[in-house]
Amino acid sequence: MPQHIRSAWFKTLGQLALILVLAAVVGLVVGHPWPVVTLAALGVVAWHYWRLRKVLLRLTARQRLEPARGDGVWNELDRLLYRGQAEMRTRKRRLLAMLRAYRAAAAALPDAVVVVERNSQRVQWFNKAATSLLGLEYPHDIGAAIGERLQPLPMSHWLAAGRNAEPMLDAASPIDANLRLNLRLIPYSDQHWLLVARDVSKMLRLEQMRRDFVANVSHELRTPLTVVHGYLDMLEPGEFPDWAPMLAEMQKQSQRMTQLVEDLLTLSRLEAQDSLPDESIAMAPMLATLRREAEALSQRRHTIVVQDEAGVDLSGSNKELHSAFSNLVSNAVRYTPAGGTITVRFAREADGGAVLSVRDTGYGIPAAHLPRITERFYRVSTSRSRESGGTGLGLSIVKHVLNLHQARLEIESEVGHGSTFSVHFNAERLQPRLDASTLPLPDSQTA
Ligand code: ADP
Repeated sequence: MPQHIRSAWFKTLGQLALILVLAAVVGLVVGHPWPVVTLAALGVVAWHYWRLRKVLLRLTARQRLEPARGDGVWNELDRLLYRGQAEMRTRKRRLLAMLRAYRAAAAALPDAVVVVERNSQRVQWFNKAATSLLGLEYPHDIGAAIGERLQPLPMSHWLAAGRNAEPMLDAASPIDANLRLNLRLIPYSDQHWLLVARDVSKMLRLEQMRRDFVANVSHELRTPLTVVHGYLDMLEPGEFPDWAPMLAEMQKQSQRMTQLVEDLLTLSRLEAQDSLPDESIAMAPMLATLRREAEALSQRRHTIVVQDEAGVDLSGSNKELHSAFSNLVSNAVRYTPAGGTITVRFAREADGGAVLSVRDTGYGIPAAHLPRITERFYRVSTSRSRESGGTGLGLSIVKHVLNLHQARLEIESEVGHGSTFSVHFNAERLQPRLDASTLPLPDSQTA
């Protein structure tokens, strides 16, 4: 017990003893000691009750307490209560100031921020940007059902999916179709979710401008290149023996440029598309074509193995998937030294899907390069890619085509031992193989 409380306590006890002693003395003087002492004791009890009542009244009045003066336990209690209240007020004021500062910061954010109550899916709070980006109005929309309020955004569906939901969504703003928003749903507590919407229209416009620029440049380059290439082809090296090596190099380089322009145009075209036609793809003829292409490219320098074990066909774009598979096969041939083996295998997977894999016994790719290998113009070895006639765009094209088929590319590689590029298709992309003439090839066919 602190010193001042102990002294107040003893002071009150001393006062009690003094009163009782005085009462006893007065009692003895008047000849009735016990009744007088009893009266005095009752008086003391009454006074304590009165002080207790005062404390209760002060506490229940929820008013600001006055600092108590005087000593004794009751005044000490008053002082403690006053101090407690003052501390509480200061803490409250500090918390309020902090809360206001946070709210002001959230309100000033350029992104729309909406606090949503999880169970009821109702709006609890939102900032200013939520008005300009999502059209929420204060105070009318506080407590509004967010799903209905933000239609046609798939909010209800998204909230219902909960923590398993896609973390991000790109959509048009419900108030302006030209405003493209990037929406994020962040479950930050069991009861509350944060919806954050960012205006990405400018970024998308820039992205579109970049794509248009690349597409236009490629398109503009195509005609002059065709002319140059055409004239170069017309020149017979035999007629200009001195120029023969230069002529061959010029032809090679113009061929490379033409290929580059064609690949850039293919990429631009794929980027501009949201989906591709859904055709039936007969896999047996597709694999036979891939084998022919590999053999033509290999010129008998490699062993080509094709294994068709899936017994199903695919659905998607015949032309684009052929270009993707053929890119993988051509890479396998180009990056495998003579004497190596290229294995193309089409098989079912345990999850009900199917996989087309292209395995080679070539140079392999160091692990550090794997994460970036599908980026445009990314090459492990620029000289090797150039020598083999590569543009550095092949795997980018493959990735785009596969994305449009909801398929995924997996790459395993070991330097010096070879690489395996596997394309995984979902079960939804599979179709029963009907045509008897396209039944699976024998297990393994070797060229
Ligand atoms: P490129 O036209 O240069 O072949 P790609 O986009 O097709 O461009 O491939 C990118 C890079 O990935 C290549 O330059 C090469 O370094 C590497 N690569 C692709 N496939 C293979 C493979 N089967 N074996 C080894 N390296 C490969």
